[in-house]
Amino acid sequence: MHIILLGPPGSGKGTQAKNIASEYGFVQLSTGDMLRAAGNSGSKLGLQLKAVMDEGKLVSDEIVIGIVQERIFQNDCAAGYMLDGFPRNLLQAKKLDTMLAGQNQQIDLVIRLCVNDEVVVRRIAGRRFHVASGRSYHVEFNPPENEGKDDLTGEALIQRADDNEDIVKSRLNIYREQTEPLVKYYEEKSILVTIEGMGTPNEIFAKIKVALAQHS
Ligand code: AMP
Repeated sequence: MHIILLGPPGSGKGTQAKNIASEYGFVQLSTGDMLRAAGNSGSKLGLQLKAVMDEGKLVSDEIVIGIVQERIFQNDCAAGYMLDGFPRNLLQAKKLDTMLAGQNQQIDLVIRLCVNDEVVVRRIAGRRFHVASGRSYHVEFNPPENEGKDDLTGEALIQRADDNEDIVKSRLNIYREQTEPLVKYYEEKSILVTIEGMGTPNEIFAKIKVALAQHS
């Protein structure tokens, strides 16, 4: 299965991608994680990427498409993968289709998570991450056992620089303008399933499992 997880920041794409990965063995390909890793590399390009991401703006299509192209045809992706955070605009979506068609592949399912803006802002402002593992917490909804510390390693949790309220609002605007048109694009291909993304992560995952069973 080749799956796209579509939804605004804070809709739960990353959380659900981890659930799907552990249940089905599909690889999670998060362009945000890949770009953050590049951003932390200390190189000149890395610093430029980090500056763009910290402001909540989109990184150039050329860079992101290059990263995805290199990653999706690697051996571990043969059993299936989920794209989390890509594509984010029509150009990226079309480029992805061309890339896949060149290898006789296609996207099988687009899972769209719907949440309202108020919930997004609340979810994002309280998010905390353990960088090394990608484990995520929420100060209110899913707090760690010890404040500010990862449950398994005890290491410090961080808050993403782009997870503050002002930047989240601008990320939401970018989502509406550039990413939301993809809903129609994939609807027309009859591969889009929309899932109500309000509720607990387990409730949402249960709905995703039903969608996957229907489409596999
Ligand atoms: P995310 O972790 O998906 O919220 O992504 C964090 C940041 O990485 C975004 O705000 C963008 O700056 C950048 N990014 C991730 N994916 C893409 C993409 N497909 N196109 C452009 N920029 C991206």
